[in-house]
Amino acid sequence: MAPKGDESGEPMIKRFYELQEKILSYYPEANLELLKKAYTIATDAHQSQLRASKEPYMVHPLSVASILADLRLDEISIAAGLLHDVIEDSPYTREDLEKRFGKEIADIVWGVTKISKISTMDVVDAQAETLKKMIVAMTGDIRVILIKLADRLHNVRTLAPFREEKRKKIARETLEIYAPIAYRLGMGKIKDELEDCSFMYLYPEEFKRISAEVDDRHDWVIAQLEALKTEVGKILADYHIHAETEYRIKRPISIYRKLQRQNIDLDRVYDLLAMRVITDTVANCYAIMGAIHQRWPHIPARWRDFITTPKSNQYRSIHTTIITPEGVKFEIQIRTFEMHQVSEEGIAAHWKYKEGLGFLDNDTRLEWFRDMIEHHRTNPDPKEFLTSVKKDLTPNEIYVFTPKGKVINLKGGASPIDFAYAIHSEVGDHCKSAVVNEKMVPLRTVLNSGDVVEILTAKNCHPSADWLKHVITIRAKRRIAAYLQKIDNVRLAERGKRLMSRVVREYHKKHKLVLGDGEMERRIVALHYPDAETFFRDLGAGKRPLDRPFLQALFPEIQAPAVVPVAHPGHRTDPLHRAIVVEGIQDLEFSLAKCCSPIKGEAIVGYVTASRGLVIHKKGCPSVAAAVPLRLKEASWSETGEVNFLVRYDLTVLDRPGTLTAITAVNAAHDSNIKKVEQEQINQNTARVALTFEVRDQSQLHEIEAHFLSTEGVIHLNRRRLTSR
Ligand code: MN
Repeated sequence: MAPKGDESGEPMIKRFYELQEKILSYYPEANLELLKKAYTIATDAHQSQLRASKEPYMVHPLSVASILADLRLDEISIAAGLLHDVIEDSPYTREDLEKRFGKEIADIVWGVTKISKISTMDVVDAQAETLKKMIVAMTGDIRVILIKLADRLHNVRTLAPFREEKRKKIARETLEIYAPIAYRLGMGKIKDELEDCSFMYLYPEEFKRISAEVDDRHDWVIAQLEALKTEVGKILADYHIHAETEYRIKRPISIYRKLQRQNIDLDRVYDLLAMRVITDTVANCYAIMGAIHQRWPHIPARWRDFITTPKSNQYRSIHTTIITPEGVKFEIQIRTFEMHQVSEEGIAAHWKYKEGLGFLDNDTRLEWFRDMIEHHRTNPDPKEFLTSVKKDLTPNEIYVFTPKGKVINLKGGASPIDFAYAIHSEVGDHCKSAVVNEKMVPLRTVLNSGDVVEILTAKNCHPSADWLKHVITIRAKRRIAAYLQKIDNVRLAERGKRLMSRVVREYHKKHKLVLGDGEMERRIVALHYPDAETFFRDLGAGKRPLDRPFLQALFPEIQAPAVVPVAHPGHRTDPLHRAIVVEGIQDLEFSLAKCCSPIKGEAIVGYVTASRGLVIHKKGCPSVAAAVPLRLKEASWSETGEVNFLVRYDLTVLDRPGTLTAITAVNAAHDSNIKKVEQEQINQNTARVALTFEVRDQSQLHEIEAHFLSTEGVIHLNRRRLTSR
């Protein structure tokens, strides 16, 4: 038997004036001009098309509009319903519709088109749950979903002419995706019909068997329900409560699910027979429940109060199951008229035209929607098939398509670069530009659910640091960072090689050092480096200085310069005495002044102190300018003495990896020994390197100075006093 409430038997609307009459019956001020225009354009767009039933195509948009009119929706929804297949099936574009009907209608039709594409695309790899979320996420205006549900409803009502395979595909999709969406939105009536039609086509055997079993009991069932109706009527009269009653037999799909779940036979289904009592007030609901519980025993485990605790889709009702003395069980649902309307129409009720009130404004609708969301958050019902509406509607996830229709699930805010990496890391690494919905867009564009995204690649395109600003998926971030690291490593290794070759060139000039092909690499590996590349990279990154011991180990053929004790200031040393000739003085202790730290080659003067012997200053050093002439002694450098002089330089450098190594490499190249290196950040880009090293004489120092100044990253240098404050 046909389930009660099935509207498919309703006369189908085939003419525009019938639709017009239907709308005018509830909405006398409807904008008929708009509707007529929509009808005309739709007729033009579909003029040469036929449905599978061989009827003119316009039967379908008219029926969809009629279902929307049954929901008493506004003219925008109904006009969009008439136009819903125009973009998809005809040369009319979204822009055409916007020009003729304005943005609101064009956007809604576009939304329906986007959702329709999901069905026609090959979405084998997407789960029903994903598709459901996707459809909701893609919907900016809830009317898009209302139209899509009406569209699907008419399609499942008219599945018969299709081949079995196609019927089953549409029926399965309806059961898994569209019926649950209707349920979540509280649209019980449409949900039921979507399920009933789909069940019939998806499980024809089961449908036949269950329908036959129910039919076998039909006369008995109706007699039972009529008897109950009479009894309940008496109770209502006794209590003077105004209420309407209606009854139904459980729908085949619900019976099927219950039998499957509990593995029982039809006679054990408690709610096979159900009666609904609809009254004016909540107080009446409880009064009726009390009276019924007094009249018949009820099954406590089957009692549910969805009035106090509504379902997340705002369904409210009392459910109770009673047993008659004959042992027949009935489920009785008690609710108010308002609750009844919400259970039948759900969210659609809020777009509905109400006499005397017109349409609710958007704010009121939104408030209702927020209530629904808020309610679910505070009363989560784990049994709900669908979880929070809020979770699905917040744009934390988006669903976009490849040109071939593969669904790619990304975080909200994702860009084409994220998309490219989600496709394949190679696509990401070489992405050049993006085409979104057939338009070229910058790679930083934020994607939206439903976008069709194509990535153009080029071999010579590579990730840049800039990309990191425009990606939000971990996968893309990781890949880009890895690529940048790789590039950086190559760059650092090149810098390391340059530093090394500078040393080698210098050694070649000075010591006639000649290295064969690959000789350097072999030597580096012999010094326990895993490979030469790693060594050069460390060198370039400044992780390893080119110090003298290492260079001596690397180039054993180079004679190490004679190691001579350093003339530390303040210590009497023989080398200093040998290196400096001061007339008439031999037994005084010699030291080098810290203020000017003279080195061999610079003009010097000796200054006799009371406690520290003879201190050697640069000629013209301010600290001896005012000295008594008697204390000053002529001094000069001897040809023979070998002394290493300590000098300190402050270098202002760009703070980049490798700069420090470059500096130390300069010293190595000039056979100078670094004694101390201190680095200090000046600001984000620059640093100061305080370098104390040994030189033999002024000419060596000049060479090093010149070399510093030509070194990449060195901005400025300054010779300083040796003492540090
Ligand atoms: Mn359609």
